[in-house]
Amino acid sequence: MDCLTDRIADFLAFFPTILAIDAARYAIAAGALAVVLRLAPAGWTTARRLQSRLASRADRTREIGYSLLTIVIFALNGYGVHLGARHGLFTIMSGPPAADLVQAVATLVLMIVAHDTYFYWTHRAMHHPRLFRFFHRTHHRSHTPTPWAAYAFDWPEAAVQAGFLPLFLLVVPVHGVVLFVFIAHMILRNVMGHAGVELFPRGWARSRWLAWITVTVHHDLHHATARWNYGLYFRWWDRIMGTEHPDYVQAFDRATGERRETSEARDATLVEKA
Ligand SMILES: [Zn+2]
Ligand SMILES: [Zn+2]
Repeated sequence: MDCLTDRIADFLAFFPTILAIDAARYAIAAGALAVVLRLAPAGWTTARRLQSRLASRADRTREIGYSLLTIVIFALNGYGVHLGARHGLFTIMSGPPAADLVQAVATLVLMIVAHDTYFYWTHRAMHHPRLFRFFHRTHHRSHTPTPWAAYAFDWPEAAVQAGFLPLFLLVVPVHGVVLFVFIAHMILRNVMGHAGVELFPRGWARSRWLAWITVTVHHDLHHATARWNYGLYFRWWDRIMGTEHPDYVQAFDRATGERRETSEARDATLVEKA
């Protein structure tokens, strides 16, 4: 009985804080981007808008509602990670990471690359006709996504998305600061992918040095077609597996005002010309 009481007390001591942090990072990232898009010069957002259809208030309400459910699932996962660390299942280092900065940066890069791989393959699996309805249908109700769609998942998808962190921690010890930066980067890239307006500078998708990093239209095309561009941060897996949208780079050029008219650049249902 005492043991159960202790467990409940521990849950009540930690879970609300974890929940508040998860909610805050969604609200801050999605909210800040929504405000930036609202305050940006109308000409800029109109020129860079990726679809002719505008998301409705009902779309935003649905996206926020499902995201709140995801936040609860992520927070439960976070509490599980806290318990796992306490019982020695995971190693999360504290103190200044400066002691081994090279290792911290290497772990961060490994974590981001591993997450991109995990995301690509779980995402592709969730598009299998037998799995789509149960796992992934809610996320694709946002045909024209907004930053609020970042966490708009069915609960089974939220559980799959949450699963990366404990699986990675089972194998690799991670510093707390690295964990924080990884999660901040994840939510930032996530809301940017759902912005509905191209946020990256002109030339990015053709840059020799930067093109491997996905721009906003990459994931927007995924929502518009539900068929291409399954990756998250990088283009690697889509290119290796032949699932990159054939019009991806041209769509980016059109959104950023670089007119490179091509025959396949006519899919008006996907990308509005500026
Ligand atoms: Zn999405
Ligand atoms: Zn999808």
